Amino acid sequence: MDVEPHVAALRRGELRVTRCGGCGLPAFPLPRTCPSCGAEDAAEWFTASGRGTLWSFAVFRRTYLPEHPAPYAVLVVELAEGPRLVGAAADGLAPGAPGGLVVGAPVTAEVDARSDPPRVVFRPALPPTPPGPDTTARSAPHREGAAR
Ligand SMILES: [Zn+2]
Repeated sequence: MDVEPHVAALRRGELRVTRCGGCGLPAFPLPRTCPSCGAEDAAEWFTASGRGTLWSFAVFRRTYLPEHPAPYAVLVVELAEGPRLVGAAADGLAPGAPGGLVVGAPVTAEVDARSDPPRVVFRPALPPTPPGPDTTARSAPHREGAAR
Protein backbone atom coordinates (compact mmCIF):
# COMPACT_ATOMS: atom_id res chain seq x y z
CA MET A 1 0.00 0.00 0.00
CA ASP A 2 1.19 3.52 -0.73
CA VAL A 3 2.07 5.31 2.50
CA GLU A 4 2.65 8.68 0.81
CA PRO A 5 -0.56 10.14 2.35
CA HIS A 6 0.94 9.32 5.78
CA VAL A 7 4.21 11.09 4.94
CA ALA A 8 2.41 14.07 3.37
CA ALA A 9 0.29 14.43 6.52
CA LEU A 10 3.39 14.29 8.73
CA ARG A 11 4.78 17.23 6.72
CA ARG A 12 1.65 19.15 7.83
CA GLY A 13 2.13 18.00 11.45
CA GLU A 14 -0.77 15.57 11.23
CA LEU A 15 -0.88 11.84 11.99
CA ARG A 16 -2.91 9.97 9.36
CA VAL A 17 -3.28 6.19 9.41
CA THR A 18 -5.64 3.63 7.93
CA ARG A 19 -8.54 1.36 8.67
CA CYS A 20 -10.37 -1.06 6.42
CA GLY A 21 -13.24 0.64 4.63
CA GLY A 22 -15.00 -2.72 4.44
CA CYS A 23 -15.02 -3.86 8.08
CA GLY A 24 -13.33 -1.03 10.02
CA LEU A 25 -10.26 -3.08 11.04
CA PRO A 26 -7.66 -0.53 12.20
CA ALA A 27 -4.28 -1.37 10.67
CA PHE A 28 -1.40 0.70 9.36
CA PRO A 29 -0.42 0.09 6.72
CA LEU A 30 -3.48 -1.97 5.83
CA PRO A 31 -2.45 -4.94 3.66
CA ARG A 32 -3.78 -4.94 0.08
CA THR A 33 -6.17 -7.70 1.13
CA CYS A 34 -7.81 -7.02 4.48
CA PRO A 35 -6.89 -9.91 6.84
CA SER A 36 -10.29 -9.61 8.52
CA CYS A 37 -12.89 -9.31 5.74
CA GLY A 38 -10.88 -9.95 2.57
CA ALA A 39 -11.72 -6.59 0.96
CA GLU A 40 -9.21 -5.54 -1.69
CA ASP A 41 -7.56 -2.09 -1.68
CA ALA A 42 -10.04 -0.91 0.95
CA ALA A 43 -7.74 1.40 2.94
CA GLU A 44 -9.58 4.35 4.41
CA TRP A 45 -7.42 7.20 5.76
CA PHE A 46 -8.23 9.05 8.97
CA THR A 47 -6.51 11.44 11.35
CA ALA A 48 -5.47 9.79 14.61
CA SER A 49 -5.52 11.55 17.96
CA GLY A 50 -1.88 10.74 18.67
CA ARG A 51 -2.81 9.15 22.00
CA GLY A 52 -1.68 5.59 22.50
CA THR A 53 -0.16 2.93 24.71
CA LEU A 54 3.38 1.58 24.58
CA TRP A 55 2.91 -1.95 23.22
CA SER A 56 6.55 -2.99 22.92
CA PHE A 57 10.01 -1.54 22.45
CA ALA A 58 13.62 -2.40 21.68
CA VAL A 59 16.72 -0.56 22.78
CA PHE A 60 19.56 -0.41 20.25
CA ARG A 61 22.95 -0.24 21.94
CA ARG A 62 25.00 -0.04 18.73
CA THR A 63 25.09 2.95 16.38
CA TYR A 64 24.11 1.96 12.85
CA LEU A 65 23.50 5.42 11.45
CA PRO A 66 25.34 8.56 12.56
CA GLU A 67 22.03 10.44 12.84
CA HIS A 68 20.83 7.85 15.39
CA PRO A 69 23.59 7.48 17.99
CA ALA A 70 23.21 4.61 20.47
CA PRO A 71 21.57 3.99 22.79
CA TYR A 72 18.18 4.70 21.27
CA ALA A 73 14.77 3.09 21.51
CA VAL A 74 12.35 2.01 18.81
CA LEU A 75 8.78 1.75 20.03
CA VAL A 76 5.64 -0.02 18.91
CA VAL A 77 2.65 1.98 20.06
CA GLU A 78 -0.96 0.96 19.86
CA LEU A 79 -2.88 4.10 18.99
CA ALA A 80 -6.16 4.81 20.76
CA GLU A 81 -7.88 4.23 17.41
CA GLY A 82 -6.35 0.75 17.13
CA PRO A 83 -3.51 0.68 14.60
CA ARG A 84 -0.02 -0.12 15.87
CA LEU A 85 2.69 2.25 14.76
CA VAL A 86 6.48 1.99 14.92
CA GLY A 87 8.32 5.12 15.95
CA ALA A 88 11.27 6.46 17.82
CA ALA A 89 11.35 7.56 21.43
CA ALA A 90 11.36 11.31 21.82
CA ASP A 91 14.39 13.01 23.33
CA GLY A 92 15.00 12.00 26.92
CA LEU A 93 12.82 8.91 26.83
CA ALA A 94 15.21 6.20 27.92
CA PRO A 95 14.86 2.98 29.90
CA GLY A 96 15.15 3.65 33.61
CA ALA A 97 14.61 7.38 33.22
CA PRO A 98 11.76 8.95 35.13
CA GLY A 99 8.75 8.53 32.90
CA GLY A 100 10.80 6.12 30.80
CA LEU A 101 9.76 3.08 28.86
CA VAL A 102 7.12 0.92 30.48
CA VAL A 103 4.96 -1.40 28.39
CA GLY A 104 1.36 -0.34 28.83
CA ALA A 105 2.25 3.27 29.67
CA PRO A 106 0.27 6.00 27.95
CA VAL A 107 2.23 7.90 25.29
CA THR A 108 1.54 10.66 22.83
CA ALA A 109 2.79 10.94 19.28
CA GLU A 110 4.60 13.95 17.91
CA VAL A 111 5.98 14.73 14.49
CA ASP A 112 9.74 15.18 14.40
CA ALA A 113 10.07 17.60 11.50
CA ARG A 114 13.86 17.79 11.90
CA SER A 115 14.25 14.57 9.94
CA ASP A 116 13.44 14.30 6.25
CA PRO A 117 11.02 12.72 5.70
CA PRO A 118 9.43 13.69 9.02
CA ARG A 119 9.09 10.84 11.50
CA VAL A 120 6.79 9.94 14.35
CA VAL A 121 8.25 10.08 17.84
CA PHE A 122 6.56 9.20 21.11
CA ARG A 123 6.88 10.56 24.61
CA PRO A 124 5.17 9.66 27.88
CA ALA A 125 1.70 11.15 28.10
CA LEU A 126 1.25 13.65 30.85
CA PRO A 127 -1.22 12.45 33.44
CA PRO A 128 -4.55 14.23 33.28
CA THR A 129 -4.57 17.41 35.32
CA PRO A 130 -6.56 16.86 38.52
CA PRO A 131 -9.32 19.36 39.09
CA GLY A 132 -7.87 22.24 41.09
CA PRO A 133 -9.55 24.98 43.02
CA ASP A 134 -12.18 26.76 40.98
CA THR A 135 -10.55 29.93 39.74
CA THR A 136 -13.26 30.91 37.34
CA ALA A 137 -15.16 34.11 38.00
CA ARG A 138 -18.11 33.64 40.24
CA SER A 139 -21.45 34.00 38.57
CA ALA A 140 -24.23 36.03 40.06
CA PRO A 141 -25.60 34.35 43.18
CA HIS A 142 -28.58 32.15 42.63
CA ARG A 143 -31.72 33.98 43.60
CA GLU A 144 -34.19 31.80 45.40
CA GLY A 145 -37.64 31.95 43.95
CA ALA A 146 -36.60 33.80 40.80
CA ALA A 147 -38.82 33.30 37.81
CA ARG A 148 -37.50 30.66 35.39
ZN1 LIG B 1 -11.76 -5.45 6.34
